[in-house]
Amino acid sequence: DPQLNSSYTFENYIEGDCNRLARSAGFAVAGKPGGTSFNPLMIYGGVGLGKTHLAQAIGNEIKRSSPDKLVIYVSCEKFCQQFVDSLKNNSINDFVNFYQAMDVIIMDDVHNFAGKEKTQDIFFHIFNHLHQTGKQVILTSDKSPKDLAGLEERLLSRFKWGLSADLQIPDLETRIAILRMKMYADGIELPQEVVEYVANHIDNNVRELEGAMVSLLAQSTLNKKDIDLNLAKQMLKNFIKNTTKEISMEYIQKLVCDYFEVPIEMVKSATRKREIVQARQISMYLSKSHTKSSLKSIGAFFGGRDHSTVIYACQTVEDLIETDKKFKNYVQDIQKKLKMS
Ligand code: ADP
Ligand code: MG
Repeated sequence: DPQLNSSYTFENYIEGDCNRLARSAGFAVAGKPGGTSFNPLMIYGGVGLGKTHLAQAIGNEIKRSSPDKLVIYVSCEKFCQQFVDSLKNNSINDFVNFYQAMDVIIMDDVHNFAGKEKTQDIFFHIFNHLHQTGKQVILTSDKSPKDLAGLEERLLSRFKWGLSADLQIPDLETRIAILRMKMYADGIELPQEVVEYVANHIDNNVRELEGAMVSLLAQSTLNKKDIDLNLAKQMLKNFIKNTTKEISMEYIQKLVCDYFEVPIEMVKSATRKREIVQARQISMYLSKSHTKSSLKSIGAFFGGRDHSTVIYACQTVEDLIETDKKFKNYVQDIQKKLKMS
């Protein structure tokens, strides 16, 4: 199966409090695909916390213990693209039959179904077919089923049938264990104090943790120097600086306008149209929380308004986040995009 990546296994998936339930549920499913009540198994959590790794590990474990089983791993994005292609080529039946013939389907990042109603419909039918015939469905997502916005209710209700298990940010001990395993796999040894330093300072996602170590090792090879704590501190300073770029108000404005599909210049205009006001208020709110700009300069930037307008905008956004789930999801989506930039 070219879609499975054999380097993602259970053996190299470090267990911690952050992933214990998801990992053991995944292991149970791998031992008895379609035969547990964890169907579908939904693994959810933030960026870089190990969703793809765990989902792939389940697929690889199934292939190892039952090589005859048909296992497909597909990202939701790719599935959506394949569906569109099949519409174009008049080959929807082939598309559906291909997936319905599987014993196990692993679909990664199902939050990407948002807004794609036709593809959701097709997947709904494939899901039902597989589930009714005792086949295993494994899903990953950046949110729990109850917080997934933009997905049809009937699909979400299916997603809630089995087990949803979340992945959290690993604690320090687990981060150290992950670094140790990674070094072991690469045949490299770093001083304990360096490992601890890295694990202490990169504490929000596993992908960055690995990235920091890779960059440390690369630089030590280039400089032909052993890494001691001082060198590590110096290198990590650059790494952290490079990964957390400063965010500008221009950038926030562009991101928000792209997101809501409103013309960028309208946000600075005097218009009171609802969707423009919303984009403007969210832009102000994000500028306050993600830049060092003063209220006065935020107001000035967004169309020469005064600081009380900015305070009002921030208050409005905070209130809506509390009371309106859809609105909250919008803001979180945009914040995620900001962080990825
Ligand atoms: P996600 O799909 O949630 O964004 P990934 O599965 O791509 O995250 O994980 C990011 C990186 O971190 C991968 O290289 C993965 O192997 C590694 N990783 C995540 N969690 C663990 C873990 N518990 N043990 C070992 N490596 C991990
Ligand atoms: Mg992933």
